[in-house]
Amino acid sequence: MNILFYDTKTYDQASFTDTLKDFPNITMEFTKSDLDPRTAALAEGFDAVCAFVSSDVGTKTLDILHAKGVRLVLMRCAGFNNVDMETARKHGIRVMRVPGYSPEAVAEHAMALALAANRRLYKAYNKVRENDFSLSGLMGFNFYQKTAGIIGTGKIGAAMCRICHGFGMRVIAYDVYENPSLKDFVEYVSLDRLLEESDVISLHCPLMDSTYHMINIDTIRQMKDGVILVNTSRGALVKTDDLIEGIRLHKFAGVGLDVYEEETNNVFEDRSDEILEHSTTARLLSFPNVMITSHQGFFTREALSAIAETTLQNAMDFEAGNPSQNDV
Ligand code: NAD
Repeated sequence: MNILFYDTKTYDQASFTDTLKDFPNITMEFTKSDLDPRTAALAEGFDAVCAFVSSDVGTKTLDILHAKGVRLVLMRCAGFNNVDMETARKHGIRVMRVPGYSPEAVAEHAMALALAANRRLYKAYNKVRENDFSLSGLMGFNFYQKTAGIIGTGKIGAAMCRICHGFGMRVIAYDVYENPSLKDFVEYVSLDRLLEESDVISLHCPLMDSTYHMINIDTIRQMKDGVILVNTSRGALVKTDDLIEGIRLHKFAGVGLDVYEEETNNVFEDRSDEILEHSTTARLLSFPNVMITSHQGFFTREALSAIAETTLQNAMDFEAGNPSQNDV
């Protein structure tokens, strides 16, 4: 089986090339172009394409892939909101994904953001480099014996609950389903109670109609003053303009974001002044208590090799005609 790998980064090529050694029936070619209607025709002669969260796997792209003989789309990520599943089904194109690769990778990054925002590590780093060893502006609070509120307790949220429990925090959670593995140290509460009682709030639920902008000025007003908010899930869970208003109201001790609403517009890859001027992400960055990273939660060695392993196993299952729990 021959796969065209879109939007290749050096680290993708390294992890997939390494894992390919265990899959002798698969050959892979790598292109830096991302998959969209302009680049779909490159897949002529390939059985499958490998795409990512940033790819445009919409109607036009799928029409072209189908015309070029592609039978499988391998998403090397959990999300598939960028895939037009109706068109894929119409063309008989199978779509497979990697539902969970390393929940700890994302949860550890969420805690890193919470700690960095709380203790102003980014500011401390810059101060000391400039020979300023004063502590002004760096005071944080102990996490020990404070309350962590985890919204969404699936794979990543559960890992975050375990981490917070390890810090000696009281852990409360809100989810539409309770996770039985957490029953010994997590108390499930209503969303209202979670917002009112938490010192650190971390978002781990998926983006859906029901969770879109769940953090808005009304829910922000319900939070304790001096709360820390972390989002490593999806940008649009938080209404950015309202978050900015909340920051201006001094609601937050710190905000840590790995994801933000404008991510798909490549705000920071295209650094034109006009885009930056109108960018809410750039506005967020102007606040001293906000720490932003560039969707790197998943980015660990272990997660990358798990993604490669599962993606290639998905390709083998397709080739063998086996059903898979990774089918979309
Ligand atoms: P999961 O499916 O295992 O867990 C999601 C949980 O959210 C489930 O328990 C579900 O019941 C719950 N949920 C659904 N609707 C809810 C609601 N309205 N309110 C509260 N909870 C609700 O998913 P996961 O693997 O833990 O991933 C969580 C999210 O993390 C993903 O949706 C994705 O957006 C994000 N993610 C981010 C990165 C990154 O690099 N930053 C990497 C992978 C995943």
